[in-house]
Amino acid sequence: MRFDVITIFPEMFSPVVDESILKRAQESGKLSIHLHDLRDYTKDKHRKVDDRPFGGGPGMVMTPQPLFDAVRKIKGRRKARVVLMSPAGRPLTNKLVKSLARGPNLVILCGHYEGVDERVREKIVDEEISIGDYVLTGGELPAMVLIDCVARHIPGVLGKETSLEDESFEEGLLEYPHYTRPANFRGTKVPGVLLSGNHKAISEWRNQQALRVTRRNRPDLMKNK
Ligand code: SAM
Repeated sequence: MRFDVITIFPEMFSPVVDESILKRAQESGKLSIHLHDLRDYTKDKHRKVDDRPFGGGPGMVMTPQPLFDAVRKIKGRRKARVVLMSPAGRPLTNKLVKSLARGPNLVILCGHYEGVDERVREKIVDEEISIGDYVLTGGELPAMVLIDCVARHIPGVLGKETSLEDESFEEGLLEYPHYTRPANFRGTKVPGVLLSGNHKAISEWRNQQALRVTRRNRPDLMKNK
């Protein structure tokens, strides 16, 4: 899968996307991430990509021209979904992540200032996505969040040792607690069932724990249970 990111801060991405699982996924060709500096597409001689809002008010707005031209050039004839990162977008959930991972490729627009001129949203954006009910200073962190969680659902990106099966949200529940060695850490013991070797009992214990954790931390998820 191919991710094209249009941003005024392309250099923010490397420390995140060129490490760990995303790095390996790119090296093995499971995905590719292409960063585009929006300022390379502006016709303004000072490389400006923003202007004052009509109607007055605080802040600046990203102008349509560089975004329209960047998307037209970058998307070209390839089939791709254009996503605008925006606090006013559809909430990013596990369901949406899985559907995005099935393709097509993504062109991701990172906003700044007060956001983008409304005509960008109207004419070139297929999907507006929010990573949560709070406002960040720019769309770069949200874009990295989106790439990271979508990447995990692209076949072959996670190694065999990291399964998606029992992860939080997969069954509509949060995940059960994990323990590792030592079995007794400074007087706190691992639940005996996990040392029993009884796979059926372990599975039942994990189910109960997933329900307990979900009820405690996210009662809203229990509505469908
Ligand atoms: N004026 C906008 C509003 O009130 O909805 C906020 C703009 S914010 C300061 C600048 C940019 O950060 C946005 O255009 C968007 O790209 C990004 N952004 C901020 N919060 C976000 C969120 N929760 N999810 C996705 N993108 C976000």
